[in-house]
Amino acid sequence: MGNNFSLDEVIRKVPNFPKQGILFYDITGILVNPKAFKYCIDMMVKLYKGTNIDSLAAIESRGFVFAAPLAERLGLPLVLIRKKGKLPGDTYSCKYALEYGFAEIEVHKADVKSGQRILVIDDLIATGGTLQAAQNVLEQGGATVTGFFGIVGLPFLNYHKVLDSIPVKTLIDYNTE
Ligand code: AMP
Repeated sequence: MGNNFSLDEVIRKVPNFPKQGILFYDITGILVNPKAFKYCIDMMVKLYKGTNIDSLAAIESRGFVFAAPLAERLGLPLVLIRKKGKLPGDTYSCKYALEYGFAEIEVHKADVKSGQRILVIDDLIATGGTLQAAQNVLEQGGATVTGFFGIVGLPFLNYHKVLDSIPVKTLIDYNTE
């Protein structure tokens, strides 16, 4: 599989989902296409193999799907960042603003080690608010976020502004809503 696989062909674009005015980029089209899914994981391995990372952290729930095979391929620990109330142990948590209302994410305190260098993975990066909250919970445990990864990026939503100067990598970007 070369570097020229067209992810755009397998990402379904669904207008007005989950609400009016949002163009939803549906990554399930990647998962049902084994070549597309393998392409994604191979590209992630290429981007991060041999880089100075101690652990991966994945955002519930579509982030889990891409982070788990990468963790296995790189031989790195995988930390799950989940919606409030899902993790049984003691947690660090962070509330953050959504377009309407608030959300809260958590991570197990025991899974974050002080001084760890962590790459945070989600399926798609839009405003960056979710990744910023993920950075917050990991930093509460004394870890450092060294990078953010999304299969899809929507840079027109200006995620770079909220993600400090931490490097963001994506496999495909869309520049219009
Ligand atoms: P944000 O916090 O704005 O960067 O939003 C990122 C999270 O919301 C990710 O977990 C995405 O799965 C989801 N998301 C936001 N916008 C979209 C979109 N247009 N299409 C698909 N998923 C989205």
